[in-house]
Amino acid sequence: MPLLRCDVAVVGAGPAGSMAARAAAEHGVHVILIEEHPEVGRPVYCAEGLSLNGFVDAGLKPTPEIVSQEIVKVRVYAPNKRYLELTSSDWVGYTINRDVFDRALSERAVEAGAELMTGTRATGVVKEGGVVSGVVAHRGGETVRIEAKVVVGADGYASTVRKSAGLGRWYPDIVTCAQFKLGDLSLDEPEVNEFHLGSKVAPGAYAWVFPKSQEVANVGLG
Ligand SMILES: Cc1cc2nc3c(=O)[nH]c(=O)nc-3n(C[C@H](O)[C@H](O)[C@H](O)COP(=O)(O)OP(=O)(O)OC[C@H]3O[C@@H](n4cnc5c(N)ncnc54)[C@H](O)[C@@H]3O)c2cc1C
Repeated sequence: MPLLRCDVAVVGAGPAGSMAARAAAEHGVHVILIEEHPEVGRPVYCAEGLSLNGFVDAGLKPTPEIVSQEIVKVRVYAPNKRYLELTSSDWVGYTINRDVFDRALSERAVEAGAELMTGTRATGVVKEGGVVSGVVAHRGGETVRIEAKVVVGADGYASTVRKSAGLGRWYPDIVTCAQFKLGDLSLDEPEVNEFHLGSKVAPGAYAWVFPKSQEVANVGLG
């Protein structure tokens, strides 16, 4: 089994993993960042709404490649169709291209010195004397062992790292979502994000319509 060694192994190149990898690499340690998909950012499981503060926190700028649509207000519909509008002169929101956003974050991690391995799926952590000392991963039909002083489990809600390390889940339940990218639309107000509440449209949660342009919207229920 091929053996790799690093200081920090980060599992999952979503926003959390790429930002953790970047921060560690910027401090001069050897980082390996692994991502199960062949391409960072895809598939997209997200409504793609992000405020300007979200960009600032991520250390990115709202470039035309990442931003699909600028949003000036959020409208929250009650079951009786009355709505509340949330807006502010110092608030800017966006519907982004989440795949481009995630890719940009992973590129920053690589620029900082992290080694990115896509198409590499962690199957579990390695433990020595009860202490996590690395991860085992599948990559291109072979099994790879990555020894690390620190393992960061940034592999999302169903985290393999968390489960194999024997850690519990802090959130009580998981809500199933349905999400679609609808095209060929003719939206009157593409600069408005909509939330729809009520037991008929979205029992226990909400439905969203986040325009990506006048013709395209990210629409979902969760
Ligand atoms: C339907 C939906 C809509 C959402 N809408 C919004 C929104 O509009 N705005 C917003 O800010 N947030 C939204 N969120 C939340 C947002 O997507 C998450 O908060 C964010 O993705 C969490 O980032 P993360 O890096 O922790 O995990 P993730 O983005 O889930 O990244 C985890 C990464 O780990 C990889 N991975 C998983 N398992 C392994 C493994 N075993 N080995 C290697 N790699 C692995 C995955 O492929 C993925 O790239 C939404 C979430 C959902 C589900």
